Parts: sequence; C-alpha cells; structure tokens
Amino acid sequence: MTCSNALRGGISLVSSYLKETLDFMFPKSCSICGRLADAGDRFSQYEDFSLALSGNSSGLQVCGKCLSSFAPCEHDKRWFLCLSDPYDGDPFPGLALYLPLAYEGTVKRAMPAVKFGKKAYLARFFGCLLGSFMKCDSVHADLIVPVPLSAQRLKERGFNQAAEMAKPASAILGIPYAGDVLYRNRNTHRQTELKGTLDRIANVTGAFGVSEEWDLTGLTVIVVDDVVTTGFTLHEAAVALYEAGAEKVLCAAFAGNRQANND
Ligand SMILES: [Zn+2]
Repeated sequence: MTCSNALRGGISLVSSYLKETLDFMFPKSCSICGRLADAGDRFSQYEDFSLALSGNSSGLQVCGKCLSSFAPCEHDKRWFLCLSDPYDGDPFPGLALYLPLAYEGTVKRAMPAVKFGKKAYLARFFGCLLGSFMKCDSVHADLIVPVPLSAQRLKERGFNQAAEMAKPASAILGIPYAGDVLYRNRNTHRQTELKGTLDRIANVTGAFGVSEEWDLTGLTVIVVDDVVTTGFTLHEAAVALYEAGAEKVLCAAFAGNRQANND
C-alpha cells in the first residue's frame, strides 16, 4: 500500500467514525413527520440517485413508517379517466390518467409541506417515486412536461412542484423533460377553492397555451401534476398539447382522490 492510499484509507475511516458519532449525537428526524429517521439503507438508494441527478445531497430524511405509506396501489388500478365527472361533448373523452397513490394519510399531510412549506426536495422525492412506478408499468412517451404555475404563484412559492416532480421522473424513465412547453394564458383560481363543476371548467378553460418554439407533431407527451381532484386542470393542459399537434397525451399525477372509485 502506498502512503497516499494509506492516508486516504485513514481519512475514510475517521470520517466514517465521525459520521456515526454525529448520527448518534444528533439523530436525524423525518422530513415529513418529524419522528426519528430510521429507514437507513432503505433510503440510501434515493440519496445516491439525488447525488447522481443533481450533484447535491437531497437534504431529505424519511422514516420507515412514512416510507411504507408511499406504497402504490396495485398495477391494474393505477389508470383512470382523467375527468372524475365526464361531460357530453368532451373532445377527448378517453384521456387517461396515471395515478399511483390515494390522496390520504401521510401523502395528504405531506403535500401542504411541499406547496406551503416550500419543500421542493420533497416534491423531487415524490417525482422519483412517481417515475419508479411508471417505469415498473412500462409507461413510454417522447416528452414529459409539467402543468405550469402562473407567474404570480411561481413568484410566491419559488418553484413549481409539478416541475420538481416531473424532472426526476423524466430521468428515471429516460424520457426528455421540457419545462417550457406549456404556459398559462392567465391566472386561475385554485380548483379546490371552487365547488361547482361548471365553475371549475370555466376556471381552467383556455388557461394553457403551448410555446411556438415547440412542434409536438406526432409526439406522445406525458403531462404531470402533483395532485389531481376533478382532473379539469390536467384535461385542459392536454387539450392545449393536442391542439399543438401531439399525437397522444397521457396525464400523470402523484396522488389523487380516485382510488376508492376504481373497484
Ligand atoms: Zn416520517
């Protein structure tokens, strides 16, 4: 062994002891529930992925209990019609939605932390899970795009959670990501603030456009959002993509309220 190899080995050993000591003195808490992060090796693969993807540590710790609550529903129960309440005259009545998780329990508690706690790293973790589930289900496309935020909301939040999810999903699936395909024509109200179906349709109708920089002719495009309720937002984004020439559009969301109705 050369001197430099011996030195490197010694430094590695010391840093390993140091890490163990620091972990013992300052145990890490789960980024979602705050309990002791005990997932250990089960979570280390994600850290490796984050480093490979961005060159940075994820800044994330997830305990075993939270991790196990992100188990997806069965393979044959992850596809839905995009609209929960289909209507006559819909130009794309067969629009499909990929939705692996129910919006309940830990998922429901974690989502406000992404949006309102400005935890973009949690959104990236969820995107990683979404991409993994889609890869298991052999979902193919030419392009992945996020549902865009309005300029005003993007300024308030500092990031688009749908984009933060779509990026790692793109890397896992090996499908190119493009964040500048869709844009918002105008500000919309939060769909959750509106009760009636007609109000929700009116709120998003014509809300999206496709950049003239993009020619989508013949492409299959996946459009990603974080949470889906009625599906009107994703549906309207898909309409804009079809109008710009896409051959096929698939919608995908990390979580939603449909699973109970998919028996
Ligand atoms: Zn936890």
